[in-house]
Amino acid sequence: MDIDQFRREAHAAVDWMADYLRDVGERRVVTDAKPGDIKRRLPAVPPEQPEPFARVMADFKEIIVPGMTHWNHPGWFAYFPANNSPPSILAEMLTATLGAQCMSWQTSPAATELEQVVMDWLRQLVGLPSTFHGVIQDTASTSTLVALLTARERATKFAFGRRGAGADHAAQLTVYASREAHSSVVKGVKLAGYGTDNLRLIDTDASFAMRPDALAVAIDADVRAGRVPACVVATVGTTSSAGVDPLPAICDVAAPHGAWVHVDGAYGGSAGIIPEKRELLRGLERADSFVFNPHKWLFTNFDCSAYFVRDVEALLHTFQASAEYLKTAHDAEVVNFRDWGIQLGRRFRALKLWFVMRTYGAEGLRARVREHLRLAQLFRGWVAASPDFELLAPTHLSLVCFRARPGNGAHAEADLDALNERLLVEINRSGRVYLTHTRLNGRYTLRMAIGQTNTDEAHVRTVWDLAQSALEALT
Ligand SMILES: *Cc1c(COP(=O)(O)O)cnc(C)c1O
Repeated sequence: MDIDQFRREAHAAVDWMADYLRDVGERRVVTDAKPGDIKRRLPAVPPEQPEPFARVMADFKEIIVPGMTHWNHPGWFAYFPANNSPPSILAEMLTATLGAQCMSWQTSPAATELEQVVMDWLRQLVGLPSTFHGVIQDTASTSTLVALLTARERATKFAFGRRGAGADHAAQLTVYASREAHSSVVKGVKLAGYGTDNLRLIDTDASFAMRPDALAVAIDADVRAGRVPACVVATVGTTSSAGVDPLPAICDVAAPHGAWVHVDGAYGGSAGIIPEKRELLRGLERADSFVFNPHKWLFTNFDCSAYFVRDVEALLHTFQASAEYLKTAHDAEVVNFRDWGIQLGRRFRALKLWFVMRTYGAEGLRARVREHLRLAQLFRGWVAASPDFELLAPTHLSLVCFRARPGNGAHAEADLDALNERLLVEINRSGRVYLTHTRLNGRYTLRMAIGQTNTDEAHVRTVWDLAQSALEALT
């Protein structure tokens, strides 16, 4: 493809993109594709001869797009969102055009320095003290693994020092998280080599928040058995119910043992940009690390995960590994983000954050997040006022957990589970919205996760109308 053709095709692609963004709300959120449908339409062997680009683009429109789930449909209420926005998309196009690999300062000084600046902007926006330093990771899962690895290094050093040189190097290190913690904590514990036998899942209270008294009991038992508490993972905005672990009390329990406190705010952390919601993050200044995903609820394309750490030395001690071919003349004066995480090669992710923060401004970002919070309270109010539905968790953020419970509790729990499972299928069958489920206290629970960039009151109303008519049809 020569540059003239690139220019023509790129203009046409941008026209397609603008049309898509304008009309995505008219599409079915979820495709009707069945397993194997897409593969069947694709050749099993690679093309030997060059194909005209027009054919590639035509297949993209006819085969690929109809097989996609439209995460940026304003009727998206499933999981948590994976957002984008026009400025973020433009930055991704420019990033792809530059095609830079930003492993060290030298390999793209602007990428490194812009990352330092936008991460510090983000730190200020969520109200973190300047003792924290930020780096962009691909996902919250990776960020949590990075925290678990750093905690392991620190605890190993601590255990080694305490027991004296030559002591049992393999002191058992333990990790704590609530029963409602994300699966990435379990994955991270496996990958970091702690072993799942050394992961303690702590009980939660009625609002699905970790019980600090139960944490204290678990830590004390481990310490008495000679184990070393290495890390406590607290969550602000759990995945099932947006539960918020009490950070100050957790830090109180963890601190005397020197355990690393990592705060997983993958979804909920974005609420930190709203001053009246910052209470949910109180105590964060005492944590060792914090992650949240601008790609979830800050209108920035996947992937973009903001990881903040206080003890940069501990991070570097864990991840630094140089080689002759990586050395540059500036290493002593600059930050090389390759030493701040697992991978060597790094994408230029700071550009999209910069574009988003400047185009929206802090006020614009707050206005969108506030609107999502308002819509959640509105939906919550409808559920609370209905005799046929009930709420199953507090609504601290923009996630509402609810289920149908018609006839004032005349149904057995097992029947209610089956009824709500069918209700979810019915709601989603419309194609106009998409919700997913979880289980809270064993009960089948519908999750209404509000946060797609363009979701407005009408889309939220649609879910409520569909839920009521579907329930009527089922009962
Ligand atoms: C979504 C989520 C994650 C995982 O996020 P990724 O960026 O996809 O790895 C981790 N923790 C919580 C609480 C989440 O909601």
